[in-house]
Amino acid sequence: MASSKPFTKTISLKPYGIDSKRVHYQWDPELLHKETLDKGMGREASSGALAVNTGEFTGRSPQDRFIVKDAITEDKVWWGPVNKPFDPEQFDALYDQVVAYLSDKEVYVRDCFACADRDYRLGIRVINEYPWSNLFAYNMFIRPSEAELESFSADWLVVNAPGFIADAAVAGTRQHNFAILNFSRKIALIGGTGYTGEIKKGIFSALNFLLPVYNNTLPMHCSANVGEDGDTAIFFGLSGTGKTTLSTDPNRRLIGDDEHGWTKENTIFNFEGGCYAKVINLSEESEPEIYRAIKKGAILENVIMDEQGQVDFGDTSITQNTRVSYPLYHIENIQEPSIGKNPRNIFFLTADAFGVLPPISKLTPSQAAYHFISGYTAKVAGTEAGVVEPIPSFSACFGAPFMPLHPTKYAEMLSRKMQESGVNVWLVNTGWTGGPYGVGTRMKLKYTRAMIHAALSGELGLYSYDTYHIHSVFGVAQPRSCPGVPTSVLSPRATWNNDEAYYKTAFKLSNAFRENFKKFESYASEEIRRGGPQRYAF
Ligand code: ATP
Ligand code: MN
Repeated sequence: MASSKPFTKTISLKPYGIDSKRVHYQWDPELLHKETLDKGMGREASSGALAVNTGEFTGRSPQDRFIVKDAITEDKVWWGPVNKPFDPEQFDALYDQVVAYLSDKEVYVRDCFACADRDYRLGIRVINEYPWSNLFAYNMFIRPSEAELESFSADWLVVNAPGFIADAAVAGTRQHNFAILNFSRKIALIGGTGYTGEIKKGIFSALNFLLPVYNNTLPMHCSANVGEDGDTAIFFGLSGTGKTTLSTDPNRRLIGDDEHGWTKENTIFNFEGGCYAKVINLSEESEPEIYRAIKKGAILENVIMDEQGQVDFGDTSITQNTRVSYPLYHIENIQEPSIGKNPRNIFFLTADAFGVLPPISKLTPSQAAYHFISGYTAKVAGTEAGVVEPIPSFSACFGAPFMPLHPTKYAEMLSRKMQESGVNVWLVNTGWTGGPYGVGTRMKLKYTRAMIHAALSGELGLYSYDTYHIHSVFGVAQPRSCPGVPTSVLSPRATWNNDEAYYKTAFKLSNAFRENFKKFESYASEEIRRGGPQRYAF
């Protein structure tokens, strides 16, 4: 009887303990797309993209992320609530259970790379229970050429079994789902969650340990792009602050939207081969490049579609964190390979829901180090009417959940690199203006883009009294004018129309900065401490 499956390659997974008779190796995207539809695991959107639901989890689960405590990690990892230790023997037992579970399943295997720079490249073998998760790996990691595939050897293994449910009491996990890194065995073991972001952030977290420890390279939670004359810009920021949105710029070649390394050879390189964009309220008008990247090959996650496959990007009934993944080549203007020179400009993006930080300001080296260690953004307390108090959120290095080492390790490396390269550092508030969340409005994307362009082109000029105003609370230098942006927008105080309320709120935030920084004070030099806000409420 003819098989319904086209001729494809298979490999044995027995060395990994997976004794499956249906191992699908290196399927191309069309086949994985079709397989997902045939299995009833997804639908095709009118754009041609594949739309799936990731199930119980529509975001990462930071509390269920563990690192195996062993000879490699024991003395180096900053253990605590972010980097939770996991017992090596319990890992082995859980791994055996997961591979036994996969043994009677159909599984999808993909060989790919992380790190665009060949000198740093990591071979990754991804084993997925679901075809669409394997398509995600195709989109997000670096795709090997046929020749590279011939000589491929895997340095790290990702085992991804969303349908596997752990018995927490026996497994040593917190609950039924888990994402565990094992540096001795070089395995990222993910179970009980179908959220694809766990796959990419698992390898990111591994690199955040490996690169600084063994390669003298700084790993960064940032996006990057490069201008006509080869000037690189990088954008740090926590989730939702604009890394993907602002690095996707028709006038600049995209290097990557989330994870990069800064090498001792003074280059930066992307870890990934694709983008993972938020699509909440996405419109073709305001973000045309991302909108047009949503076509055959892309995977939409947790969006709502009508009968005709038209996506309603405003519908957040499954989650606010609706996403799309696509390979870099879905974007027109990209840098190939994904490597740039030393950055000339660094942007720290923050979505300040208090609405008190200037929309753009220039930082001194002390301020840059201070803000990097602080990693400030704000969360809005849900969308119900009446709940208007923003919550300050600090995440060291703008990515604490992915950083296995102590934050000062990364901060020291960044400070050194910033000094050596003489880079400009800017703090950009992509959050609120005219008042806090609930009163003011989100900064217009068009203005943020104009401010970034002015910073990149040099139009914001050198610091002088005529060009910049020093913010009386935060001490940062706020430009007095910027092409394409109404002058009133540049001064947050002016947008409030209520000085007393403005300063009260600004002090609230400066106090939150101070409170958060206490845990780093004993590590930070006098110079870094001077980079904090200048005034506090008493
Ligand atoms: P993650 O780390 O989760 O990938 P991210 O930093 O890449 O997050 P984006 O995906 O770029 O964040 O999300 C920024 C969101 O904020 C987008 O939905 C964008 O449309 C919206 N937005 C609204 N106003 C602005 C602004 N002024 N600047 C940047 N983004 C804005
Ligand atoms: Mn992003």
